[in-house]
Amino acid sequence: MSNILVHPLSDNPTAAWKEICKTQKLFKVNVKLPAKPPNDNQIRFVCMSDTHSLVHNIKYDIPDGDVFIHAGDFSRCGHIDEVKEFNKWIGTLPHKHKIVISGNHELSFDPKFIDVFKKKFEPSSRHREIFHCPSYGKGEDDIKEAVHTENIRHYLTNCTYLEDAGLELYGIKIYGTPWQPSFGNWGFNLERGSECLQKWNLIPENTDILITHTPPVGHGDLVCSGIRAGCVELLTTVQERVKPKYHIFGHIHEGYGVSSDGKIIYINASTCDINYMPNNLPIVFDYPIPEGFSKN
Ligand SMILES: [Zn+2]
Ligand SMILES: [Zn+2]
Repeated sequence: MSNILVHPLSDNPTAAWKEICKTQKLFKVNVKLPAKPPNDNQIRFVCMSDTHSLVHNIKYDIPDGDVFIHAGDFSRCGHIDEVKEFNKWIGTLPHKHKIVISGNHELSFDPKFIDVFKKKFEPSSRHREIFHCPSYGKGEDDIKEAVHTENIRHYLTNCTYLEDAGLELYGIKIYGTPWQPSFGNWGFNLERGSECLQKWNLIPENTDILITHTPPVGHGDLVCSGIRAGCVELLTTVQERVKPKYHIFGHIHEGYGVSSDGKIIYINASTCDINYMPNNLPIVFDYPIPEGFSKN
């Protein structure tokens, strides 16, 4: 059980952060792609996010490493063709392990979205128009097709897909979850506050590397209009209960970069920038192999 409380300003992350930051350390971390391969006693992680079906427009080579992580929004709307294409691409990467979570754009992965969409698409529904949202980047028929694909995650055969689930590699405990505070008519939406917290309460305490699609408040979550979009309860959960070494996410493209509170490293790995150009480099770090484990 967690003792994390919902912050009184949970619904207004900009205001909440103004309060919270008074007692926080905050460092910008400058990261460069490493020039050398990792030592034998380290595992190299290569992080990307928010590629939005634009992997073929990436102009650099993806750096090699032991574990590749994608923090969601690999498609525009989760259409099966996009999922197959992403799966094919990730299959070409050299990394031994590949971990993927969904983001709000993977509509077809979210049973809740599918349910609501199917209901609201009944011809008689007066709510029908809410799904005519051009930012899906796909037409109505594509969304319809996307949400009618069963068991879409089974098409991700070239990676490990995590949805409120974890795995252990080389003794390093990794956990992934796709949810984010409500964001338009998208997938994996939850109300700020207790609804989000319920999902964060599922994250095991001994997690070393946490992957979420949303940033926590205060790290990589500043949108260009000057407001903060991160989740307040996610920050409280990682700082007070889970205490991972690394927290990897994406979602807020303009928040790309690395920061720290002195204990946890926060990585916004958004590959696409605010204009949906896949220009940002992957973020790479080396993690010491825990005692008793080896690369083999
Ligand atoms: Zn995105
Ligand atoms: Zn997103």
